[in-house]
Amino acid sequence: SVEASIPEPQRDAWKRFQAKGFTTKEDFEREVVRHVETTLARSMFNCDETAAYAAASLAFRDRLITQWNRTQQRQTFSDTKRIYYLSLEFLMGRAFDNAMLNVGAKEIATEGLADLGFRIEDIISQEHDAALGNGGLGRLAACFLDSMASLNYPAWGYGLRYRYGIFKQEIVDGYQVEVPDYWLDFNPWEFPRHDIVVDIQFYGHVRKYQTDEGKNVVIWEGGEIVKAVAYDVPIPGFETSATNNLRLWSSKAASGEFDFQKFNSGDYESSVAEQQRAETISAVLYPNDNLDRGKELRLKQQYFWVAASLYDIVRRFKKSKRAWSEFPDQVAIQLNDTHPTLAIVELQRILVDLEGLEWDESWKIVTRTFGYTNHTVLPEALEKWSVPLFQNLLPRHLQIIYEINLFFLQLVERKFPKERELLGQVSIIEESQPKMVRMAYLAIVGSHKVNGVAELHSDLIKSTIFKDFVRIFGPDKFTNVTNGITPRRWLHQANPRLSELIASKIGGVGFLKDLNLLNELEKFADDKEFKKQWAEIKYANKVRLAKHIKTTTGVTVNPAALFDIQVKRIHEYKRQQMNIFGVIHRYLTIKAMTAEERKKLAPRVSIFGGKAAPGYWMAKTIIHLVNSVGAVVNHDEDVGDLLKVIFLEDYNVSKAEMICPASDISEHISTAGTEASGTSNMKFVLNGGLIIGTCDGANIEITREIGENNIFLFGNLAEDVEDLRHAHNYGSHAMDPDLVKVFEAIKKNTFGDAGAFGALVSAIEDHGDYYLVSDDFHSYTQTQDLVDEAYKDQDEWISKTIISVARMGFFSSDRCINEYAESIWNIEPLAPEANGSSGMAK
Ligand code: PLP
Repeated sequence: SVEASIPEPQRDAWKRFQAKGFTTKEDFEREVVRHVETTLARSMFNCDETAAYAAASLAFRDRLITQWNRTQQRQTFSDTKRIYYLSLEFLMGRAFDNAMLNVGAKEIATEGLADLGFRIEDIISQEHDAALGNGGLGRLAACFLDSMASLNYPAWGYGLRYRYGIFKQEIVDGYQVEVPDYWLDFNPWEFPRHDIVVDIQFYGHVRKYQTDEGKNVVIWEGGEIVKAVAYDVPIPGFETSATNNLRLWSSKAASGEFDFQKFNSGDYESSVAEQQRAETISAVLYPNDNLDRGKELRLKQQYFWVAASLYDIVRRFKKSKRAWSEFPDQVAIQLNDTHPTLAIVELQRILVDLEGLEWDESWKIVTRTFGYTNHTVLPEALEKWSVPLFQNLLPRHLQIIYEINLFFLQLVERKFPKERELLGQVSIIEESQPKMVRMAYLAIVGSHKVNGVAELHSDLIKSTIFKDFVRIFGPDKFTNVTNGITPRRWLHQANPRLSELIASKIGGVGFLKDLNLLNELEKFADDKEFKKQWAEIKYANKVRLAKHIKTTTGVTVNPAALFDIQVKRIHEYKRQQMNIFGVIHRYLTIKAMTAEERKKLAPRVSIFGGKAAPGYWMAKTIIHLVNSVGAVVNHDEDVGDLLKVIFLEDYNVSKAEMICPASDISEHISTAGTEASGTSNMKFVLNGGLIIGTCDGANIEITREIGENNIFLFGNLAEDVEDLRHAHNYGSHAMDPDLVKVFEAIKKNTFGDAGAFGALVSAIEDHGDYYLVSDDFHSYTQTQDLVDEAYKDQDEWISKTIISVARMGFFSSDRCINEYAESIWNIEPLAPEANGSSGMAK
């Protein structure tokens, strides 16, 4: 506020002593030692790697925060439009290495830490992943933050500061066991902002009355208040001094620590009950990927986060003293899936109830402000909230939703007067028992743009789940922005040697900012010396993964074997079951081969990884089967190196950074039409691996970019899925004969008690094979044979991977963010200070 601002005569002193952060190696070392000795209260006699990590990170954090302050001041003074990215998930992974690379000070840190007695790799590995997300959706949000900062967009992320992120996965006797993730034990990357606290209301009731002047007043009162406390995480851009902010909200009891009255009267337990109830709101991330469970605490989380964020956004806007009608010229809010859809309702409430604007005027502001990104067509993932639950928790919001729906249905009625049934189909309220609020419909009605995340997906939402809305609002409201990934983390950081090799050939690391420059690489696709270096790097990355496999599972794998990797959340639609059935088919085939035939086969390591939602029994059964197959195959001396089956425990972002550079082939084999985009497909190709995949999500656009000779596509097309399912249910369902043999082997207890896997088999044999595993199985195994064949010609294989990398420019999240900025947000970058200090020597 103005009162806290230092008067002009004293500002000179501030300017003179402004914090600058380190710029040289000596400065860096001084900062590290200072943090060890003062912030951490330790010394050279008890500084272990954890302490060194902490001190080095704090040195970087200090730098980032000074850049962050300057960036925010510039944005405020230039009075520019900002984008606010609302996401319930930010799967950030580790921050230290990323900060060093983006700031351009990794060499300084490496040498500085060496002077102080530490190896940089050991220090990097001390960091705990920030795992505030489930999978693709959360990681996308994290890549977007990196791109928005790197492209100098004035952008804020808003999320929840979960005390426990996604659980840690342990594999015990072949089963997944969930262990809490204590990531906040020490986290140098966040700033608690105890001065930024917002009161959030729940429950209570609504009172309406008319003033003497005849004005309608609505008051939401009673209920309970919980405090939202801001925690800020600086987001450095690559080679720019622009540093953005991710603001995460943490919940806290409104009445302070605990109830003194109860405490004094000896009722110790209930004296802390309110505090615990409040803190529960931001305690855990719901561990379901692509599944809606409709739990009250989840709705509480959503409102808590959305209300705190909007309070903050509105407060910032109000400082500009502009008219409300200019709000959408200053503010763009993007909804990452329907989780933040309540923001639409909350902004309407703020404008109408608190600021006294007319309904229509407010609604115009609201709809110009929001954009909605849809992430799935899977029906089980589309959020719906029960009306009674809503009524109890957010009574005023429910009224507003009803009113939004009324005006919307009136519009539909005017446009399509003869189509009575359309009203029920598109109503935001589903007339079920109990009634439900359809959040995706609310998001569409309250936004000016709706986008899918890959071309096929964007077409599908227009032709299936949202087709009525295309008629109502016209096709222009619906658009596509194909997902992307940040090349900084997913190439430069994950695969430094490959990045360096590329840079040495195409004139520096410019491709990290303009990924289309990779095109230049194509002319080296037949360069012998280059291919040798390229192959050596792949091999070294496989050796690194093989070491990890050895230490974590005890299994020795041959780095010269074909590494076949499927890592992602475990889901029936992603079809890890098809993969493991294919592995069993391979095992049976090898067992039946002569010694001569075996000599011709490329040895293969089948690697799986990914978490199952704790309540998703089928997914857990898939993990159990993979481990059970591994237990048999890996000990079968007759098979030896020809086949190994590995399940990697606790797949997360930092493991992905090690795994993606180590694939020869990776699997993206969802039933066509079910995977909205996928992003790990992009990561694997960018790191010089080929992929086997269905015509689904971004696989299709990857094929378009890299050429169909460089990808192994198979399986039924999305347009045929519905007919096939219909035929399963109403005709005969002929099983694939090879799959029958796989099932026979399972049923003969080849991989332990068959009863444990009965559900996986009967889902296909007896229950309609919803994910078309049997329909695609032949095509899948045949295509795997083609992979074997192609891998034998290493020279050609390496050329294919080089050409593929060269053509991956389109999949940078920078392209993606520029598309959002232009077609949805209408926002421009704000050039950083000319003498911004990030362009420091490496
Ligand atoms: N989980 C993690 C840790 C990731 O890094 C990624 C993307 O690379 C995903 C999930 C999403 O993977 P997919 O696109 O294969 O679903």
